[in-house]
Amino acid sequence: MQKIFLYNTASRKKEELKPIVGGKVGIYSCGPTVYWNQHIGNMYSYISWDVLVRVLKYLGYEVKQVMNLTDVGHLTSDGDSGDDKMEKGALREGLSVWEIAKKYEEQFFESEKLLNINRPDVVCSATQHIPEQIELIKKIEKNGMTYVISDGVYFDTSKFPDYAKFANLKLEEIKDTDRNEISKEKRNLSDFALWKFSPKDGTKRQMEWDSPWGVGFPGWHIECSAMSTKYLGEVFDIHTGGIDHIPVHHTNEIAQGYGAFGHQTANYWIHNAFVVGKGGTKMSKSLGNLFLASELKDVGVNPLAYRYMVLNSHYRKGLEFSVDGLKVANIAYEKLVRLINEWNDGGKINDSYKKEFEEKIADDLAMPEVMALVWKLTKDETVKNEDKKATLLDFDKVLGLNLGKSIEEVIPDEIYQLAKERTEAKIAKDWAKADTLREKIKTMGYLVEDFKNDCKIRKLVLS
Ligand code: AMP
Ligand code: ZN
Repeated sequence: MQKIFLYNTASRKKEELKPIVGGKVGIYSCGPTVYWNQHIGNMYSYISWDVLVRVLKYLGYEVKQVMNLTDVGHLTSDGDSGDDKMEKGALREGLSVWEIAKKYEEQFFESEKLLNINRPDVVCSATQHIPEQIELIKKIEKNGMTYVISDGVYFDTSKFPDYAKFANLKLEEIKDTDRNEISKEKRNLSDFALWKFSPKDGTKRQMEWDSPWGVGFPGWHIECSAMSTKYLGEVFDIHTGGIDHIPVHHTNEIAQGYGAFGHQTANYWIHNAFVVGKGGTKMSKSLGNLFLASELKDVGVNPLAYRYMVLNSHYRKGLEFSVDGLKVANIAYEKLVRLINEWNDGGKINDSYKKEFEEKIADDLAMPEVMALVWKLTKDETVKNEDKKATLLDFDKVLGLNLGKSIEEVIPDEIYQLAKERTEAKIAKDWAKADTLREKIKTMGYLVEDFKNDCKIRKLVLS
């Protein structure tokens, strides 16, 4: 079996993957907080772990992937104060928290579908696992690592000597940014909530449960400790998430593991870097670079062109996103699909390319090198076209780019609108307007062909 190497944040080194049970790998992936849309920056994370699962399966492993949906307890401040993001989302939209959860779960799975991300074997939500979270807190309490203050049950991080190790934290430099009653009551500023009490002023939370400590709701981190160990065992192989999770969420999950079981729960912690705007700027709606997967077609690209773009970056390096870059990726992606679809079926997989492919995917998911290999193969005159096709369709089990399907034309709504106006102009016999609109559509890269009282729109092929 091909040896697999992954960069483990816990050791800051590339390590050989040695599964607990030979040939089987358990993966827990931190999933979305379903209080708002997941944008293509978030989706970078899920594409990366989809590729990881596909790589493991391609190389012959049996994989069980578990992913959570955070639908309670993720507060706006990492210091365990502020609002619950879910309740905030509900207020924003005039819906109940449960409706918000459902709405954004659907948006998330719709985005996953558009980007060809396979559904994990287990998808579990925090609100469906309250008893498991309470049980875990009880274990940590029994081991003497908790204390209760006015707003909840807290983990005493001073009881876990290695607390700072995972993220190389400088605990003495942590500042009391919240400066409120809770932070004054905490024994250490790094302590975090395991269970929060409902407000004492009588305001009723939409989500709250009974517990041995009082009515309230779980802290954000305990759900991942409870659900990962429930579905994968007290120790499992791989835990994934974005780099933003290293200093708080995953550091706290590791502490909870020690608190409850006395040992680490995951052997390999792997993290994706971020998608940023031009020059490293944050992705934001006001900069015009924050997209949803469902909006990709509005700029005239196939949603899988974004997946193609992600594959050309390395998950630990992240991606500098721009619409221009996305359009270039779309041209390359469509060219690749068209090329493959021109070749005959019935070829054989090329062994030497397959070997190189396996080495690259097993080397900490070196996908940019894999993409270079893909293009090298398309141009290799010593390999028959039908063999190229067979080899690339085999690689596509990992790439997930639907290389064997013909390209679906993506027509942006704006073009549809102009074409509709043109048809109306034609019906009204306003030929001059119809011609102007046809030209306008053409300069935007599309061709309208008349068809009775309707028309067909085609994308102009650029190269
Ligand atoms: P959230 O719903 O905020 O918990 O985020 C879901 C996931 O998306 C987390 O694993 C984050 O690390 C990840 N994430 C958020 N923003 C970005 C970004 N711009 N690029 C890559 N990953 C991101
Ligand atoms: Zn998590």
